[in-house]
Amino acid sequence: MSVIFPNGFVWGVASAAHQIEGGNWNNDWWAFEHQPGTPCKEPSGDCCDSYHRYAEDIALVREFGFGSYRFSIEWSRIEPEDGEFSRAALDYYRRVLAECHQQGVLPVVTFHHFTTPRWMAALGGWESGLVVDRFARFCERAAGALGDLVSMGCTINEPNALSIVGYVLGAFPPGRSDFDAYARVNANLIAAHRRAYDVLKAGPGDFPVGITVAMGDWWAPDDGQEVLAKARHTHEGQFLEAARGDDFVGVQAYSRTRLDARGMPLGPADGVDLVPSMGYEYWPQALEVSIRYAADTARTPIYVTENGLGHDDDTRRIAFVTDALHGLDRCLADGIDVRGYFYWSLTDNFEWAFGYGPRFGLVEVDRTTFVRTPKPSAAWLGAIARANRIDT
Ligand code: BGC
Repeated sequence: MSVIFPNGFVWGVASAAHQIEGGNWNNDWWAFEHQPGTPCKEPSGDCCDSYHRYAEDIALVREFGFGSYRFSIEWSRIEPEDGEFSRAALDYYRRVLAECHQQGVLPVVTFHHFTTPRWMAALGGWESGLVVDRFARFCERAAGALGDLVSMGCTINEPNALSIVGYVLGAFPPGRSDFDAYARVNANLIAAHRRAYDVLKAGPGDFPVGITVAMGDWWAPDDGQEVLAKARHTHEGQFLEAARGDDFVGVQAYSRTRLDARGMPLGPADGVDLVPSMGYEYWPQALEVSIRYAADTARTPIYVTENGLGHDDDTRRIAFVTDALHGLDRCLADGIDVRGYFYWSLTDNFEWAFGYGPRFGLVEVDRTTFVRTPKPSAAWLGAIARANRIDT
């Protein structure tokens, strides 16, 4: 079946500083990776050495046929101590942005992608009300130096994943399990997003700004529907409501969450295929469901800012994205304003507590030489991006 996407539909790939740059030692994640007793499989180390090889990465994005590259700037490099800003780090990210423009790739900048400077973590991290002002100040300084080169801005990546995984499940820093803290963190993340939105819109530059939300399909038995609606609102809905009035919301979807009638997680259903590296269900349907819920709740234009599969078998990646794109097309056919699709991720990279096991990349990276080798899915998705249509 052929699908032609709307004119101007944005095709891109996504990444994040701590997962690709290497040597990001001054944030809470690096500390967590090296702390005994955490679930981290291995430290991030040199990652893909993208800190030095960014031009090569941007060239791959362009050569495959994508018009846009989403990446994050690292707060702990730009503000290595409270109130102390690094001109050199800002200049560095200016060079990255300039390289994108020079190669004809539009840069989509995420201002916070899971990592928080060590000094901010020591002040109480996302649980402390101080973070709202500190993050707004960082955004102001970063946008002041870089804003004229930014094409689109994402304030905070998956605030809802940061809070639930860090403060309930204990697999992100600070590795806690405390529902009161979780609620405080959610409130601070939402307040920080709102402040950051205003700061970024004040210029320099004039780019669309939004937040990106971790989403998915949801399931519960018939007698669990009320509990499910509540859980979905806590995890996704309140963040989507906070995005009302923004220029867009970023939908990021990978799989499905199943709950029992009391709202406790059930894990994968019998008979459903798994994504072995992540332990969750292979569920390309997640994207369509997430777009529909985001459109109903946020009522903003939508970009799919992440979708992808962490699988060693590249043919599974192609099948997954094909199904996900057909779901996206059904949303377009129903009149939902979806403006772009970013595949996660350009390269195989550091998948947080899972380490380097899961391989989401369109490109493989040799872990000792950093040589990049594109997988067949890179040319496949790049051709779809160039043609702005899919024929399978
Ligand atoms: C995050 C990425 C992560 C990806 C795949 C999203 O939750 O934004 O940092 O690597 O999913 O798990």
